[in-house]
Amino acid sequence: MIIKKRELPLHIKTLKCIAHRMADYHPKKQLVEEELYKQIAGYKGEKSSDYYTSYLDPAPFVLHNIRLKNGNYNFQIDTVLIFNKAIFILEVKNLAGSIEIRSSYDQVLKTVNDQTSAQKSFHTQVRLQKDNLSRWLQRECNIKIPIIPFIIMSNPRSILRAESPELLENVHPSSSIPFAVYGELDQLTSKKHSSKQLKAMAQRMAASHEELVVDWFGRFDFHIKTLTNGMSCPSCEQFAIVQSSVKWSCTTCSFSGFQIVEHALEEAFLILGEGISNKELRKFLGGMSTQTMNRIARKANLHKTGLTKGTKYHRRRQNGEETREVD
Ligand SMILES: [Zn+2]
Repeated sequence: MIIKKRELPLHIKTLKCIAHRMADYHPKKQLVEEELYKQIAGYKGEKSSDYYTSYLDPAPFVLHNIRLKNGNYNFQIDTVLIFNKAIFILEVKNLAGSIEIRSSYDQVLKTVNDQTSAQKSFHTQVRLQKDNLSRWLQRECNIKIPIIPFIIMSNPRSILRAESPELLENVHPSSSIPFAVYGELDQLTSKKHSSKQLKAMAQRMAASHEELVVDWFGRFDFHIKTLTNGMSCPSCEQFAIVQSSVKWSCTTCSFSGFQIVEHALEEAFLILGEGISNKELRKFLGGMSTQTMNRIARKANLHKTGLTKGTKYHRRRQNGEETREVD
């Protein structure tokens, strides 16, 4: 039973919107696109491993991409599989080329096209995830249950080597997930928890999820104002939107409707964050009258806080001061 499904994470959606709004000659365009490619590859690797976890029978409670907090620090797990005797946590690696897991210096070396680079240790990463989840479950749900970490290699073309065979003990290709899980479960003699208790625990985890927010502009050191303003077509992605009377349409592919505006608003909130000023939003959408902006805000069910020049738009209802748009 899937308690939290996998969706393209917010920080990747944001990066995708940013890349789309960078002109070809933007000095940071290549770096941003490389990062986007890497992020999407990771997401696709996780998604492809979901196909094998869906084979598990009886089905566990499943949480995809869960990010929880211990103290001031968050920890993120790609997939959590909750069975009555144990929890499996999957760290999915979608890496191309040749991967070597080394015991000395606890390191992973990746070689692609004769270029070798060091990666964070997979084993240290899952050990920390296991430790963090165990602490979180004891504190939040008062549950003690064995946690088994798996490192999943989702790219069938990558070549994996290890300095010693023990280093590969909990490393599996995606296709082996069902066999590896049941192999471990068969050996476990731990106490069985009730389905009701585990479902409540899984739901509490899902409710505690905190989405990762990345300051991409800070990371790549460029300004938001260097992005292209305007609405782009949700169908053909071209910045070719025109408005005739109250209808929005694309001059390239003829796509039309308010979906165009909703798509642009989603991009605006991803890139600019919640609480966008009237002026900022009008500029982002490509310039329009206050009257048109008011009409859009009302139709898109945006909320606003503050008055006159201090007005800010939000997608969700805010605590405190709240007024609805009126013409
Ligand atoms: Zn179009």
